[in-house]
Amino acid sequence: MSDSSIALPSPTATVGTSVLYTPSLTEYVRRKTSTVVIGDVPMGSDYPIRVQSMTTVDTMDTAGSIEQSIRMIEAGCEYIRITAPSVKEAQNLENIRNGLRARGYTTPLVADIHFTPNAAELAARIVEKVRINPGNYADRKRFEFIDYTDAAYAAELERIRAKFLPLVRICKEYGTAMRIGTNHGSLSDRILSRYGDTPMGMVESALEFLRICEAENYFNIVLSMKSSNPQVMVQAYRLLVQRLDQEGLKPYPLHLGVTEAGEAEDGRIKSALGIGTLLEDGIGDTVRVSLTEEPEREAPVAQALIDRYTNRRSESQPIPAVDQYPINPYQYTRRATQEVANLGGSNVPRVIADYSQTPITSHNDLHPIGHFYLPVPDKWRMNDLGADYVYTGLTPASFMLPNGLKEVLDYIVWQNVDDLANTLPMLLANEYLTAKTSGEPLHDRLNFVRCTWDDLSDDLLDQLRTDQTVALVLSTDNAHAMAELRRLVVELMNQGINTPVVIWRSYANVPEADLPLFAATDAGGLLIDGLGDGIMLSTATTTDADKKRLNELAFGILQAARTRITKTEYISCPSCGRTLFDLQETTATIRQRTDHLKGVKIGIMGCIVNGPGEMADADYGYVGIGRDKIALYRGQEVIKKSVPADRAVDELIELIREDDRWIEPELTTVG
Ligand code: SF4
Repeated sequence: MSDSSIALPSPTATVGTSVLYTPSLTEYVRRKTSTVVIGDVPMGSDYPIRVQSMTTVDTMDTAGSIEQSIRMIEAGCEYIRITAPSVKEAQNLENIRNGLRARGYTTPLVADIHFTPNAAELAARIVEKVRINPGNYADRKRFEFIDYTDAAYAAELERIRAKFLPLVRICKEYGTAMRIGTNHGSLSDRILSRYGDTPMGMVESALEFLRICEAENYFNIVLSMKSSNPQVMVQAYRLLVQRLDQEGLKPYPLHLGVTEAGEAEDGRIKSALGIGTLLEDGIGDTVRVSLTEEPEREAPVAQALIDRYTNRRSESQPIPAVDQYPINPYQYTRRATQEVANLGGSNVPRVIADYSQTPITSHNDLHPIGHFYLPVPDKWRMNDLGADYVYTGLTPASFMLPNGLKEVLDYIVWQNVDDLANTLPMLLANEYLTAKTSGEPLHDRLNFVRCTWDDLSDDLLDQLRTDQTVALVLSTDNAHAMAELRRLVVELMNQGINTPVVIWRSYANVPEADLPLFAATDAGGLLIDGLGDGIMLSTATTTDADKKRLNELAFGILQAARTRITKTEYISCPSCGRTLFDLQETTATIRQRTDHLKGVKIGIMGCIVNGPGEMADADYGYVGIGRDKIALYRGQEVIKKSVPADRAVDELIELIREDDRWIEPELTTVG
């Protein structure tokens, strides 16, 4: 079978048929899932969404593993995953488990298995759950394309069955749970040959193993579909839900995660964008946030993502149901919009900085949003994160802004400014309708019109149908914000209106640590489905540091959604017991030296076993192959095999230089 013969679900789904992946597009409803018994912490929709993480110390370091597990449990982890690369580590899980029990901790343990069925079979007798990767449980990767006949493919499945069956039977006998955890980066050659490097391939990879379990009447199963690309990850989970329903398989609980998300704010944004988007639609029964940081730092992030849904139903306003869904949730397509100035059409999504609470009186006020005035030679410069528009509300800037930054003023003020051409109006929906009917002045190229669901009257829709100068600025006070904004865009699409839209989210009382998580979920959940031609983020705080952070956050969200690339992309694993170097320190060093290489993707992986596969679409790879020994990759090809760790970052930069992709860090002139 070739790729082209595999049909995705209908892109234009009539809601209510089985093609949808969520119980509701407009109401927060958690997807009903079966209960999986994992020690004394069951998982499924009858229970809270669980938090988990994975240890990073060597599994043979019993005391270290126990201490780290305790720190993780104290931080909120409800399951602890530990790598078991071979039988000896699998055996040592017993010592770790006994040590934890002796200290009074009964948190279920999960053995993480890649490649080694014998380690899995031993671990399944010791711990409460095993995680297997269907991409490498029965297959070794040779990067070969094989054109299977149906008979040859069936023979392969039979071979897998023979290899996998012993583990299934042990799990059944011991009451051990299992996660069939697909990773985008480690699909088998067999799956890649038949389905390609696609969400469909990821789903099939898990279903092949799942069908074997079901045939054995073994159902204590959790599924996952991870990728370092949140777009692929979200599509794969949605497709999985749809396929489980379609095939009449059980509604297994889902473990959510974005792999190799990286560190710091970027790692949090990427994780929230993937995980949050799914949680918004009621998908997900456990969350693991994967950061290149100490594992105990992951649990609070996962918990913050989950906590948003505790009272979501009771706190939300009703949103009208969707009858016709014009978005294909399984394949990225940007919504087709008309180009209005530099918004919409094929333009990258624009960033609007909100300065409505802080007047712009000096050149330095624009530093936080990436615009810099240089007295000599009397020029403005901007960096890669230079905002495109600045919204100044009622107070015009006291000097002429640089060419690359357009000022947006409230309509009442804009009508009276001298420079109507170089400033733009922000109108309320009713101001816009009045101006249209009374002939009051509007900008001849671009008018920003604020719009909530309640503003979407027939009159407004009629005007938008023919007006080529409007960009809507969408906002909502509804707690179920992403769903309401999505509903609004769906209405525009169903009405045949192709006005570009800016997503505006305001966060008045959100804790600082939660802001990137919430914004990435709310805006990212739209961008990931191709909705959104711009983004504006606001908070109640107004310091320069806050402005800088919001601006970076807006660009970070666009980058994580892969809709506007403005910086280097790092795909770094969280490390685990297989890592033989200090991954956090190395990642920080590589970032420090390369974070100006816009659009270059660098994978930083702890081990040779999974690293090359997991860094999937990185341009360059830095992969640990032994103690203080590094392999450097160009794409999937090893270029330097055994570089001493103290020279490896320099050699990586040399490799980038050889490809003419290295530039010296400096600012970009814009005029
Ligand atoms: S890539 Fe990183 S997290 Fe994954 S197995 Fe290797 S060291 Fe562990």
